[in-house]
Amino acid sequence: MTAARVMIVEDEEPLTTLLRYNLESEGYTVDAALRGDEAELKLRETVPDLLVLDWMLPGVTGIELCRRLRAREDTRALPIIMLTARGEESERIRGLSTGADDYVVKPFSVPELMARIRAMLRRTRPEVVASVLKSGDIELDRETHRVRRNGRELHLGPTEYRLLEYLMRSPGRVFSREQLLDGVWGREVYVDERTVDVHVGRLRRAINRGRARDPIRTVRGAGYALDEQYSG
Ligand code: CA
Repeated sequence: MTAARVMIVEDEEPLTTLLRYNLESEGYTVDAALRGDEAELKLRETVPDLLVLDWMLPGVTGIELCRRLRAREDTRALPIIMLTARGEESERIRGLSTGADDYVVKPFSVPELMARIRAMLRRTRPEVVASVLKSGDIELDRETHRVRRNGRELHLGPTEYRLLEYLMRSPGRVFSREQLLDGVWGREVYVDERTVDVHVGRLRRAINRGRARDPIRTVRGAGYALDEQYSG
């Protein structure tokens, strides 16, 4: 089970549908784009944990998109698996020099691509695929959905659990309310930004009961972060 977010950029819709189905059944959150320029716009709003990028795309090609993403601060290290057609295989060096981390030649087997995605996430984003996340004295088990603080079990609602899990993936990072809405509630759901404050409040009450130290930091005008160095 994983909570990793994968974006597929592929103009062959049946392939996109197949990949989405397989990824979602393994627990990934999937976003997809059929055009290179559409993907670029989406990536300006949210950066996934991994990108599956087709080489030949309408709008902006996969290679050009890859080059642009590597030039951007927030996507410089984004893991990218490039999909190339057989005839383009000879150009794979060009693909890799453009900044892709791995490539898969079409037609490929879905289990093979799934294995490559898992392997790359384990290497590049261990905090995203780890079964247990730790931050300070808080431990979150993704397999059992149990959360402990100082060894004592905490009882969180489903939204508070997802919110904590999301914050624990990137300790210290400040997330805006909008980013939290996208990451925790998902893009398709309409909820007000005030909802984030309500659930952060509930999460705080659940994890801080009877304790002085609050690991969740409110950053005025910016959002929220979970701090690792709060104990002591
Ligand atoms: Ca294509």
